[in-house]
Amino acid sequence: MQVIDKSKPVMVTGATGYVAGWLVKKLLDEGLTVHAMVRDPDNRQKLAHLDAIAASAPGTIKYFAADLLTPGAYDAGMQGCELVFHTASPFTSKISDPQRDLVDPALKGTRNVLESVQRTPSVKRVVLTSSCAAIIGDAIDCEAYPNGMGTEAQWNTTSTVEHQAYSYSKTVAEQEAWKMVAGQQRWDLVVINPSLVLGPGLSADATSESFNLFRQLGNGKMKSGVPDFSIGMVDVRDLAIAHFNAGFIPEAHGRNIVSAANSDFLSLGRILRQHFGDAYPFPQKHLPKFMVWLVAPLVGFKRKMIQQNVGYKWQVDNSKGRRELGISYRPIEQTVVEFFQQMIDKGLVRPRR
Ligand code: NAP
Repeated sequence: MQVIDKSKPVMVTGATGYVAGWLVKKLLDEGLTVHAMVRDPDNRQKLAHLDAIAASAPGTIKYFAADLLTPGAYDAGMQGCELVFHTASPFTSKISDPQRDLVDPALKGTRNVLESVQRTPSVKRVVLTSSCAAIIGDAIDCEAYPNGMGTEAQWNTTSTVEHQAYSYSKTVAEQEAWKMVAGQQRWDLVVINPSLVLGPGLSADATSESFNLFRQLGNGKMKSGVPDFSIGMVDVRDLAIAHFNAGFIPEAHGRNIVSAANSDFLSLGRILRQHFGDAYPFPQKHLPKFMVWLVAPLVGFKRKMIQQNVGYKWQVDNSKGRRELGISYRPIEQTVVEFFQQMIDKGLVRPRR
C-alpha cells in the first residue's frame, strides 16, 4: 500500500505513445507535473500533441531524453518522482529481428527502468503496462484455463521468440519486473494487462499496431471476409483512467486485466457497417479456417499462429480491475465508431468509389 504525493513529479516512459498520450493528458488535467521520457525531445513535431494538451491544462510537462537500451537513461528524469508509469515497449509488426526489435527493448528496457527505480530513493510505486499477451499467448491456451478464461493467475507459457514474439516480449518483461520488485519494501509494483487497445489517438503520427490492425477492417483488406479471430478490447481513454487509478489508489496491487469486452473482428465489422453503411468494405463473413491456413504465409502470417488462434475463443475475466481499480468501461460501439471516424477524418481509410 502506497500513498503518492500529487505535488511530486510523476514519470511516464514512452510518453510519445498512443496509450501514454491519454495517460499524460489525464495527469496534466489533474494538475500534476509530468516527467515525459521520450527518445528525442528535439523532435517538436512528435511532441506537438503533448505540448498542445499541456498548454491548456493545469499541469506541467518536462521532457527528458531516454532510450530503453541506454543504461542509466532514466535516472535524471526520475529524480524526485514517487510514481513511475513504465509504458514504453515496441508494439509493431514492422520487425525484421524479433529478438532485437521486440524482446530486447521490452526486457532489457524494463530492467533498465527498474534499475533506475532501485537507485532512486523517492520512488514508491511503479505502474507497468504489460498486456493480456502475458496471460494468453494463443487463443487455444484458454481451453486449458479454468472456465476457458484468462485471469490474473495465468501466465503465457506458449510464446517464444519464434512464435508470437510480441507476446513473448511482454511476458518476459513483466516476469522480470516481478523478480526485481521482490526482496525490498520501498516501492511496489502494480501491473496493467490490457487487451487490444482501440479508440482515437491524440498524436498525428501513430505507430501503435492498434492502428494497423483496425484500419484493415475498412481499407478493403478484409472485404472478402475475416478469419475467425476472437479478441478482447479496451478503449484507450478507459485504459488511461485504469493507469491513473493504479498509480493513486493506495491499495492497488498485483496484475490487473483491463479489457472492456471479449469480441471478434467480424463483430467489429458489423458495428462499423451499422454505423457507416456500405460506404466502406467492412468484412461481412468469416473465411474458412483451411483457406486462411493455406494462404497465411503469402500474407505474412505463420501457419502455427492460424492453427492455434482461428476458431478458438479468446476470453479474459476483467472483474478484478473493475472491482479494485474502479474501472467502468464505455460501450465498445462508441470506441469503434469514434476510432473509425478519426481514420476517415485523417484520410487513413477511403470510401468505395
Ligand atoms: P506505441 O504508440 O507504439 O508506443 C510505444 C512507445 O514506446 C513509444 O513512445 C515509443 O517511442 C516507445 N519506445 C519503443 N521503443 C523504445 C526504445 N527503444 N526506447 C525508448 N522508447 C521506446 O504503442 P502503444 O500501443 O501505445 O503501446 C504502449 C504500451 O502498451 C506498450 O507497452 C504495449 O506493449 C502496451 N500494450 C498495447 C496494446 C495495444 O493494443 N496498443 C495492448 C496491450 C498492451 P517512439 O515514439 O520514440 O517510437
